Amino acid sequence: MTPETPKFWTLPPGDGRAGPRSRALFTAAQSLIPGGVNSPVRAFRSVGGDPPYIRAAHGAHLLTEDGVTLIDYVGSWGPAILGHAHPAVIEAVTRAAQDGLSFGACAAGEVEFAELLCRVVPALRGGLVRLVSSGTEATMSALRLARGFTGRTKIVKADGGYHGHADMLLVAAGSGAATLGIPGSGGVPEATVHDTLTVPFNDAEAFARVLAENPGQVAAIIIEPVAGNMGCVPPQPGYLQRLRELCSEHGTLLILDEVMTGFRVAFGGAHARYGVTPDLVCLGKIVGGGMPCGAYGGRRDIMQQIAPLGPVYQAGTLSGNPLAVAAGLATLGLLEREDPYAQLEAASAALVDGIAARAARHGVPMVGNRVGAMFTGFFRAGEVHNYDDAKGSDLAAFGRFHGEMLARGVYLAPSQFEAAFLSTAHDAGVIEHTLQAADEALAIVARHA
Ligand SMILES: *Cc1c(COP(=O)(O)O)cnc(C)c1O
Repeated sequence: MTPETPKFWTLPPGDGRAGPRSRALFTAAQSLIPGGVNSPVRAFRSVGGDPPYIRAAHGAHLLTEDGVTLIDYVGSWGPAILGHAHPAVIEAVTRAAQDGLSFGACAAGEVEFAELLCRVVPALRGGLVRLVSSGTEATMSALRLARGFTGRTKIVKADGGYHGHADMLLVAAGSGAATLGIPGSGGVPEATVHDTLTVPFNDAEAFARVLAENPGQVAAIIIEPVAGNMGCVPPQPGYLQRLRELCSEHGTLLILDEVMTGFRVAFGGAHARYGVTPDLVCLGKIVGGGMPCGAYGGRRDIMQQIAPLGPVYQAGTLSGNPLAVAAGLATLGLLEREDPYAQLEAASAALVDGIAARAARHGVPMVGNRVGAMFTGFFRAGEVHNYDDAKGSDLAAFGRFHGEMLARGVYLAPSQFEAAFLSTAHDAGVIEHTLQAADEALAIVARHA
């Protein structure tokens, strides 16, 4: 904490649009880093303006380099479910750091973490779990394993689903790839994605047709149980159950990518909430408590194919890193003890219903999609059940809304195709400020419609 900004999070949120210091940093960054950003989702290209630079984060708030306080609904893209810089998490990481940053050898924390995960994540019960350092590593490793286990090559994903940036998954990809209009990436050879098939989200019969047309060839379907990377799109009743049945009938593995939803929409993950058990589950974001950490695991007979037990190779210099494990243990431990999910659900309902009601009052078409502490307000009429529906949103209206919210101290992801995240630190005052800001921002959106 710098002396001139005591407890910035107690100050009222201000105009977060990039000020002189953020603009200078961004100019310097653009001459050094591609597009000035180390991950494309941080760019403001689809909403206009320059990104504010962040100096500190605490609870539900960010402090910009221009000295302005903001209410944060990005939450580091998901991990910050306890709010930023939770004292118990910071203490655990600080304590771990004093004992060394990385061993590259076996450590007790890994065992404790694996025990916790295998106890509370239904897909991991009685199974095995492997720690990695990112969500991307988790999904690409799970797919390699699925191919190795089944001896099949084809994989299926949803249009607008995002599972990290491994080559074979950059087909009809969501998140930044959708925002920037590059859902199939340059530099990915046709041969690499030849075996990646796509289906619309929430359409189990489309998946049934793919299985029928490719008999005995589909190793796995990888799916976000609540889509988050086309904006938040909940599964229709029975959808995940039907995927489970079809996979079991065809010897295809069901891989739930819970990198975003794991411990976000329910303790243990979305599959705990919906009562569907995948063969493999991928975790990231919250399980690392803000540190780089991911995990994949599931059925023991499948996981036993991983080296050194089996022939499917996967490794990582920093896997099971002691700081990441400490942050993950502290975060999941708090979530288990304090069980904030009912509180998060109530806060998110108040917020999303409140914004939708204000949009209706101003005559701005908006659909509020929400599951637990993740949500998206799509600027369109009608329901959003898949990526095509999401793409029907008024992106100009979203861009205007984003800028007006930022000007009123509310930091949203700079894309219509992203979910927003609440934390336990988003209290009634924070939500009230957000609703007031939304009311004013929507009035401006309505005037420009
Ligand atoms: C964020 C995300 C990933 C990728 O995780 P990284 O840690 O960014 O590599 C994969 N799948 C889903 C569903 C995600 O939301």
